[in-house]
Amino acid sequence: MLKLEGKTAVITGGNSGIGLAIARRFTEEGAHVFITGRRQAQLDEAVALIGGRVEAIQGDVTCASDLDRLFDTVKANAEKLDILITSSGISEFSTLDSTTEGHFDRAFDLNVRGMVFTVQRAVQHMSSGGAIVLIGSIAGSIGSPGYGTYSATKAAVRSYARTWTSELAGRGIRVNTLSPGPINTPMFDNVSDEVRLSLTSRIPLNRLGQPDEVAAAALFLASADSSYIAGAELCIDGGMTQV
Ligand code: NDP
Repeated sequence: MLKLEGKTAVITGGNSGIGLAIARRFTEEGAHVFITGRRQAQLDEAVALIGGRVEAIQGDVTCASDLDRLFDTVKANAEKLDILITSSGISEFSTLDSTTEGHFDRAFDLNVRGMVFTVQRAVQHMSSGGAIVLIGSIAGSIGSPGYGTYSATKAAVRSYARTWTSELAGRGIRVNTLSPGPINTPMFDNVSDEVRLSLTSRIPLNRLGQPDEVAAAALFLASADSSYIAGAELCIDGGMTQV
């Protein structure tokens, strides 16, 4: 039996990397999926690749009117919203000395502010049984030189999951955080072989993760298989922060 038959899901950042892999997996499991992202060409490519019951709505999650349009479209085309995955995010390198206000604002604007107001709108369309999976990062729990701002945004994501679990439990909505370690996505395209090797040497399973491996965990947290799991953080990191 398909795990998400009859369910509707919104996936931000669903046109690339982890979000795309989740969108693909969810449609395979019977969900009606809405993906969003800024780049129309990547949205079109994603829809062609996914091939199932998927609709692309172009938009920027930091823009209130784009978020309104996204959820208005979902409301007009689906009976209800069951699942939200927030995968839109950026990671920019900057040590404390070189950090500018622009760097700080870009990271918090997308990874935190965009995520908060996406969730705020989504819950208006959710009822009991809803599941929210926030894509955090193991970066939120560790300190890596040059990733202070990114790590702080992901620590905020994990923190919100705790509060929202308390706030939304009475409405039957579960919130969990999925925190990947290094995953081979376009976010990694500009990472040098040297950094890849150095990262891999710190991962017990001795390799980068694949987007499909994150998607499998997202399916678990979004489906009834995790019905008694709320406010948790599931790390998909080959053991990097677990040993
Ligand atoms: P990608 O770069 O492949 O995907 C990022 C996604 O975010 C794209 O779909 C992009 O679409 C979307 N996005 C960026 N800005 C906006 C915006 N303003 N509004 C809407 N969508 C936006 O990276 P990943 O798939 O690797 O990253 C996905 C998530 O996973 C991120 O939150 C990241 O922090 C997290 N993560 C990734 C890890 C990794 O190793 N890859 C490790 C840990 C966490 P578009 O550009 O079209 O807007």
